[in-house]
Amino acid sequence: MKITRVESIHLRLPDVNDRADGSQETLVVRLHTDDGLTGIGEVDSSSVVAKAIIDAPLSHKIARGLAECVLGQDPFEIERLIHRMYEGSIFFGRHGAVIQAMSGIEIALWDIVGKAVGRPVYQLLGGGFRKSFRPYASILFGDTPDQTQRIAEELVERGFRAVKFGWGPLGESEASDLAHVRAARAGVGPDVDLMVDAGLCWDTATAIRRARQFEPFNLTWLEEPLHPDNVEGYARLCDSHPPMRIAAGEEICDIAEMRRLMDAGIDVVQVDVTRVGGLARAKRMGWDAAERHRLCVNHSYKTGINIAASLHFVAALPNTSYFEYCVEQGPLRTSLTIQDFPITNGRINVPEEPGLGIELNEEIVKKYRVP
Ligand SMILES: [Mg+2]
Repeated sequence: MKITRVESIHLRLPDVNDRADGSQETLVVRLHTDDGLTGIGEVDSSSVVAKAIIDAPLSHKIARGLAECVLGQDPFEIERLIHRMYEGSIFFGRHGAVIQAMSGIEIALWDIVGKAVGRPVYQLLGGGFRKSFRPYASILFGDTPDQTQRIAEELVERGFRAVKFGWGPLGESEASDLAHVRAARAGVGPDVDLMVDAGLCWDTATAIRRARQFEPFNLTWLEEPLHPDNVEGYARLCDSHPPMRIAAGEEICDIAEMRRLMDAGIDVVQVDVTRVGGLARAKRMGWDAAERHRLCVNHSYKTGINIAASLHFVAALPNTSYFEYCVEQGPLRTSLTIQDFPITNGRINVPEEPGLGIELNEEIVKKYRVP
């Protein structure tokens, strides 16, 4: 089998704003093969940048577009193709958007191989440690504490037993930070797991102080309290005995960089399969976390493609339990795939169909495709 075409499909809502909501636009990759099988992947990046990285023509030996690296190649040889893309783009790549763009192609390769052999991707990744997960509703803080509390109440009414609020107003002031987290706990009640995503908003000293101040709200974890470059700050925060787990990793694309963050002491390692170069590299990070006795959790704030790929990823790890489940209501998040991943008895199930187990809703693709 050979890859005959690489489609990079930019989808964008008409009214994108600067909220921290990555489901407002996305880049879908569809690979075609000479025997008619196709595979689907997704990229979480700046979509126009990632699309250019995939589509770019050859500049020279180590400055190649990613599509050019995989065209004519056998989709079964995934590790070799990852290496081909990494080495082919080394002149402008190795980190950031190039690795993010690789993810879309790499995930689509697994989808093709799964369909070809009639097996779900998690089995190709080494097997299913778990077949269902505890989803946590992932949403942004409201503009006011009252709004945050109302959102929290609605999510619990929908059946979620774990909720994470993030970004938005956090970091405005000490009083506002405390008011929002207090409102979130009041809204979900005492028995629902509550996480807070600070969205990179504090310096080291403030993060250490906030972690202590949040103790009465019994947080399951405090996520990204610090800038991803502030590894020394993460070490100081983790050494300060915070009263909750410290989570981070979603900005990281590089395997060695993720290890450095783990070695700084973070408790929850957050890996986004559409950012780190795809499922094989995500699995390496997940096992790095397992060997350090840390929890690994998906980061997913895109579409059903990311959800499906992330379910296969975490199913193939021993050190997982929660699943990030973005509850934004935009049409790319809710309707790009035919499958909508319902919560059943408080659990989300890993797809059992061949490949990723998803199909694109072609009407949504047509409606939001950027020409
Ligand atoms: Mg986050």
